[in-house]
Amino acid sequence: MSGVYSKPVSGPIEPVAMTPPQPGSPAGQALSARLAAGRLEMQVCTACGRVQYPARELCASCLSTDLDWRAQDGLGTLIATTVVRRPYDPAFQSRPLVRIGLIRLDTEVTVIAFLDEHCPPPRERVRIVALSDPAGSDGAGHGLLVAQAP
Ligand SMILES: [Zn+2]
Repeated sequence: MSGVYSKPVSGPIEPVAMTPPQPGSPAGQALSARLAAGRLEMQVCTACGRVQYPARELCASCLSTDLDWRAQDGLGTLIATTVVRRPYDPAFQSRPLVRIGLIRLDTEVTVIAFLDEHCPPPRERVRIVALSDPAGSDGAGHGLLVAQAP
């Protein structure tokens, strides 16, 4: 049986190493590497111009495979917020309560991001940035999207 704990519940419980969600595809891995390096870049379709997030192997609009990675300014509008009290993924369960929000970027991409302490309320303008998170449970470092005042 796999899961958070490696031993039956009748014996001592020892946590096992956990990693954040796996990127799953080459495009997802490319996005994760950029975010971990602190670079907010998204795929832009060279055929139709659509910006897409999350990363995919094809353009979600025209199915072209001609996708370029381009730096984004991250400007958009905060739509809604919530507080995560129990992260669904074991990799994040050691963290305190976190505020997250839904942001509609000016490029018509919608993202979910952590909210920094100075992030304005919903319906206000925000900027998302990519921040490196060296505290990943596997020690490898990961990228986080964070919304802040523009
Ligand atoms: Zn396209």
